[in-house]
Amino acid sequence: MPINPSVLKSMVAAAAERVVDHADELTALDQAIGDGDHGINMKRGCSEVLAQLDAIAAKPVGEALKAVGMALVMKVGGASGPLYGSLFIGMGKAFGDKPADMALLSDALAAGVDGVAARGKSTAREKTMLDVLIPVRDALKAGGPDLGARLREAAAQGAAATIPMRATKGRASYLGERSVGHLDPGARSSQLLVEALSPFLDAQT
Ligand code: ADP
Ligand code: MG
Repeated sequence: MPINPSVLKSMVAAAAERVVDHADELTALDQAIGDGDHGINMKRGCSEVLAQLDAIAAKPVGEALKAVGMALVMKVGGASGPLYGSLFIGMGKAFGDKPADMALLSDALAAGVDGVAARGKSTAREKTMLDVLIPVRDALKAGGPDLGARLREAAAQGAAATIPMRATKGRASYLGERSVGHLDPGARSSQLLVEALSPFLDAQT
């Protein structure tokens, strides 16, 4: 899976633009079980990534991922900024200066997800972004044909699975039982990233 600078630029742009385009949806989700800022937080961070796009895409993959993570840490804020920062910085560290291939991508996502769980002191089934990121990590590790579609399916199922969950982490946990019946905003933003990035795997496998 060679990732040249123009593919990298397209991937980063697609992911950031998809989140920006869905900011209102993320805000509405966070109004239901949080403080209503997830859309604006993510839009601010992803707009910064887009502003730095040329500089990011000129870097080797590992450094580019770290730069994405740093931009998100600096600009997203809230709980999700440091968590998405940990995801991308963790992935970037795992890539190091090695050339990208599928096995490394899988290991890097696993390292990034570990970073989120450590930062958030969180695990599966707590109604968070991890309920998307963990099944996507597992689907990527399993591999197989139609990988992009499998990742989208894992993300969709993971996001939908947050609806009946009771939140035990983050602001939604303050609602207790009243968090049940709502899609978690961070799970949805993670799903948006998978929706934007997985088509690039379809082109590779
Ligand atoms: P805040 O909750 O500070 O307003 P955001 O609204 O930007 O921050 O992000 C909320 C999202 O962050 C949640 O929907 C959830 O997916 C995710 N989140 C919050 N706390 C944690 C945690 N401890 N571990 C993993 N994800 C979390
Ligand atoms: Mg919020």
